[in-house]
Amino acid sequence: MAKELNIFDNVVCPFCGCLCDDIQITTEKNIVTKNQNGCAISQRKFLNHPHDRLSGPSIRKGSSMIATSLESTIKQVAQILQKSRRLLVYGLSSAENDAHREAYKIAELVGGVVDNTSSVCHGPSILGTQESGEAHGSLAEVKHRADFVLYWGANPQSAHPRHIRRYVRVPGEYIKDPKNQRVIYLIDIRKSESAQIVDQFIKIEPGSDLELLGTMRALLHGRRLDVESVAGLSLSAIDRLMTKMKNAKYGVLFYGLGLSQSKGKHRNVDAAIRLVQDLNSFTRWNMLPMRGHYNVAGANKTSTWQTGYPFAVDYCRGYPRYQPGEYTAVDLLLRKECDVFLNVAADPAAHFPRAALEHLKSIPIINLDPKQNMTSLIAAVNIPTAIAGIECDGAAVRMDGLPLYLKKVVEPPTGVFPDRVILKMIYDELRRLS
Ligand code: SF4
Repeated sequence: MAKELNIFDNVVCPFCGCLCDDIQITTEKNIVTKNQNGCAISQRKFLNHPHDRLSGPSIRKGSSMIATSLESTIKQVAQILQKSRRLLVYGLSSAENDAHREAYKIAELVGGVVDNTSSVCHGPSILGTQESGEAHGSLAEVKHRADFVLYWGANPQSAHPRHIRRYVRVPGEYIKDPKNQRVIYLIDIRKSESAQIVDQFIKIEPGSDLELLGTMRALLHGRRLDVESVAGLSLSAIDRLMTKMKNAKYGVLFYGLGLSQSKGKHRNVDAAIRLVQDLNSFTRWNMLPMRGHYNVAGANKTSTWQTGYPFAVDYCRGYPRYQPGEYTAVDLLLRKECDVFLNVAADPAAHFPRAALEHLKSIPIINLDPKQNMTSLIAAVNIPTAIAGIECDGAAVRMDGLPLYLKKVVEPPTGVFPDRVILKMIYDELRRLS
C-alpha cells in the first residue's frame, strides 16, 4: 500500500540525454505532485505520468482494438513473431538497459533485425567516430575546466533546457567565475532560442558545415586560401575564430543534429572530429554529441555490448551483422523488407518519412509503450508498459557515457509491467513455441 506522502531526492530525470540527477520528487497517494529542480519538460514528464495511458493490452480486429488479457496477448505476439520472415525490433532509446537485453534476445531467436532510434539521429555521429576516433570528455570536465564552449547545430535551450545552466553557466573547480572565465559560441543556420543567450552567435549558410570545417582546419594549419568567404563568413572572421579556439585552455565542442543530419552527415562529424584532433596539437579540446532521448546513448552501448555493433544489427544468418543504410529501420521499411515491427518505447508513426510509413501501416506492429501515441493508433497489438525512471527502476547512459540509476517513485498501474518484463515474457513464450 503506497504511503500518503513520499519525497525522493536525487532522482534522475528520464527525458533527455542530460539525465539530470538532482531532481526532488514528491508523491502523494501514488501520484507525482511536485518536481523540484526539473525543467519545464521534466515537469510535464513527471506530473503528467498518469495521463494519456494505454489502458491495457489490446489486439486489433478490423478497425477496433479489443481488450485482452496480458497472457493471451503475449501468446498471440509470440505466434506473430515466430511466423515472421523478417522481424524488425525498433526503438529502445526511451527504455532502460535491461529491456534492451531482452529485445536483442528476441531478435537473435527469430533471426530478425534490431535497430534503435540513433539511426535517425546521431547514427552519422557514430559512423564518424568509427572512422576517425573520439576525442571524448565528460560533462563534469566541461563544468570544472572548459573556458571555451562551442555548440554546433544544436539548440540546447529548447532540447536540453538545463544543459547550459548545469554545466556551462555554473562555477567549477578551475572556472570559478563562468560569466567572465568561460565563453559560449554557437554556430547554426538560424537564430534559435540558444542564440539569444550565448556570448557569440555565428550564422552560417545551410548545408555548408563540411566546407566550413575544412576551412577551419586549413587555417589552423596556417594554409593560405584563395577565397574571400566560406559558409557566408569572411575568411578573416573564420581566422579570428580559429585563433580564439587555439588559445583556449580547454575547449569543448557540443554538436547536435544540425551537424549530424545536415548535408554531409557523418562526413561533417568526421571533419569535426579531425578539427578537434588538430586543435589538440595546440591545446586541450574534446567533443560531445547532444544526445536526445534519455537512453539513446545506452541503446548504442548495450547494442555494442551484446552484438558488437551500436545499431542496425541483422541476425538473419544466426550471427550479428552491421550495415547502416541496409539494416536501419527506415531503409528496411522503404524497401518493404520487414514483415513484422516490434516497437519498444518509440513513436515511428509520428517521426518516420511518409514513404516508410506506407509500409509500416501495412504490416503488424507490436507496440510496447506507456502512452497512447501515433503508433498505438495503427498498431496491431498494444501492450502498456511502466514508465522507466518513474514507475520502474533501471539503468540509463548520459550523453557523455556515464551510466546512472533511474529510480522508481510510484507504482505502475495495476497489471502494467516494465518493458523488460514484457519482453522477457515474449521471449520465454517464443522459446516454448520453438
Ligand atoms: S534538461 Fe533534460 S534531463 Fe534535465 S530536467 Fe530537463 S528534460 Fe530532464
